[in-house]
Amino acid sequence: MKSLLNPNFSHLYVEQSAVDYSDTNRIIKKFKQATIVNVEDYKHVFSRQGQSFQFQKKSIKLILAVKKDKFIYDGSRFAPSFGHPNFYYNALILNCIYNCDYCYLQGMYSSGNIVVFVNSDPYFQAAESIIQSKGSIYLCLSYDTDLMAFENLIPNCRRWIEWAKIHPEACIEIRTKSTNFSAISDLNPSPNIILAWTLSPAEISDRYEAKTPSLDARLQSVREAVNAGWKVRICIDPILYIKEWEGVYRHLIDQISDTIPLNRIFDFSIGVFRISTDYLENIRKMRKDSDILYYPFESHNGSASYSNELKSRMTHFVRDLIIRCSSKSNVDIFC
Ligand code: SF4
Repeated sequence: MKSLLNPNFSHLYVEQSAVDYSDTNRIIKKFKQATIVNVEDYKHVFSRQGQSFQFQKKSIKLILAVKKDKFIYDGSRFAPSFGHPNFYYNALILNCIYNCDYCYLQGMYSSGNIVVFVNSDPYFQAAESIIQSKGSIYLCLSYDTDLMAFENLIPNCRRWIEWAKIHPEACIEIRTKSTNFSAISDLNPSPNIILAWTLSPAEISDRYEAKTPSLDARLQSVREAVNAGWKVRICIDPILYIKEWEGVYRHLIDQISDTIPLNRIFDFSIGVFRISTDYLENIRKMRKDSDILYYPFESHNGSASYSNELKSRMTHFVRDLIIRCSSKSNVDIFC
């Protein structure tokens, strides 16, 4: 399965201030059949209370908007910094084309629709001013979305890769579950750009990662990127507790190492499922259909996850498998 964007958005909501942007016009031309609805402010559509995230996921609408402020955020405490001192992320797109059962976006946004911000320039300026003030930046681009899956709609990955090449003080990470590497495969790799694929055992992906490409398809993309000379990070995150977790994660590491020699992977990032307790509560109110959300998690400091004992067992089990197959020690554990 190819992770190309669903080309059939029935409606495009266009914020007044977004009308004159070239990306807006290009995207409108792509969806000639869509009904265009002009709106004064994207938040009137996206942030309305009383919407059903999962209902809207069945027929996602696209919202084109201009981001007015907050072009960069401090790195999230739920995400790893890989030892970089100046860890930030930005939000070029809100929401994701996929629909993983465990995704925190369901608890964060009231809408399942997708917002694409069409004003790229202030994002670059914000990153540049961090470089000026702090000397470097580690910037994660694909938070709150899967940027590469949208690359055929708006070439954000391409733009940021080209930007990073002339800003060696920046290190950027683009994390994805997509198989859309072909959209950027004509670009040359650069040492300060990390393409990160999240991989899950097929049993977990089939059960809990709706609409995502299969594990085999993701592995093919990883292989293409590695062969083209890109720095590739493999993220086994979130590790989910299911009855047969040891067997499925063992099989996953075998499948990865059968496809790509693990010593050609730049690094590995592993972490167990964790989520803000508020988001988990919101999600549980909306959906009863996924057993993975109803594990009796423990809550500490606003974060829900497995017990410390289980977290340690799961992460060390997966880390040891990776080390055994790759003799690499650069496995970052984040719990
Ligand atoms: S791919 Fe990531 S952002 Fe998209 S639905 Fe799944 S967990 Fe959420």
